[in-house]
Amino acid sequence: MTIGFIGLGIMGKPMAKNLLKAGHSIVCYDVNAANVADVVASGAVAGKSSADVASQVPVVITMLPNSPHVKSVVLGKDGVLEGASEGLILIDMSSIAPLASQEVEKACAEKGVRMLDAPVSGGEPKAIDGSLAIMVGGEKALFEEMKDILLVMGASAVHCGPIGAGNTTKLANQVIVALNIAAVAEAFTLVRKAGVDPHLVFDAIKGGLAGSTVMNAKAPMMMDSNFKPGFKIDLHIKDLANAMDTAHSVGSPLPLTASVREMMETLHADGFGGDDHSALARFYAKVSGTTIGE
Ligand code: NAD
Repeated sequence: MTIGFIGLGIMGKPMAKNLLKAGHSIVCYDVNAANVADVVASGAVAGKSSADVASQVPVVITMLPNSPHVKSVVLGKDGVLEGASEGLILIDMSSIAPLASQEVEKACAEKGVRMLDAPVSGGEPKAIDGSLAIMVGGEKALFEEMKDILLVMGASAVHCGPIGAGNTTKLANQVIVALNIAAVAEAFTLVRKAGVDPHLVFDAIKGGLAGSTVMNAKAPMMMDSNFKPGFKIDLHIKDLANAMDTAHSVGSPLPLTASVREMMETLHADGFGGDDHSALARFYAKVSGTTIGE
């Protein structure tokens, strides 16, 4: 199938390349010309705009930073809906506010365009090896129709409910990941400060109840003081802000999320918004005077 792919950043680039490897053709677009050139070098064709991409394909995938980017790329000037014919399918794989997914879907439906929200978890490594966890909202029948395409990029794709349910699920994921990283940073700072080697602590506890995918991925980064993204602090602030807005709208307070969001805001203010979210360790270094790494 020929698939449109818009948004070729850390995640979109490897996802588009996996679709190419699986035998699909790709027409792609990004405002960053270097990212387009990279995917074109792997066999994709460049579109001139989001509208141009949409006019050439039956399915468009978007992988953009946040709600305003998705609204502008789909609903705005030279956007997907300008180029779309009736029957086009839009799969938005960005992590955005569930309410924004619902707004975009409504505008799509008025033009006869069907839409799924299908955000992902797993980060760049799983985007590269095609083993993302994909959480999907929208019509069940459309999900079934698109499942094979999703499973080129992911190891799992679960239908979570109507449009927006994929992004509600992703917000839960991001709350759990943020709090887990903060817990690892807090505990590993404690052991370093108390004079115990964090590497030995990691080996001792990773197979027990405290062990987690987050700890396996992020504790080694903290111990190496390697905060190259990965997943940027600024994108995680965006997710926690969306989680808090959504939670407040349904009357579900998020006291722990609020604390970790403020830690991330501190890092942003200190100029570390482009670091990986494992840089929560920097917050603890600031308040304890001790770094986890040597
Ligand atoms: P990124 O910033 O690396 O990539 C975003 C891309 O969108 C960039 O190439 C940018 O140029 C492009 N873009 C922005 N505005 C555009 C426009 N108007 N038209 C066309 N292209 C435009 O971000 P990313 O890390 O790839 O994340 C993308 C989404 O995936 C985000 O919602 C993020 O929260 C989510 N996500 C990221 C990770 C991760 O580990 N990086 C993991 C899971 C989910």
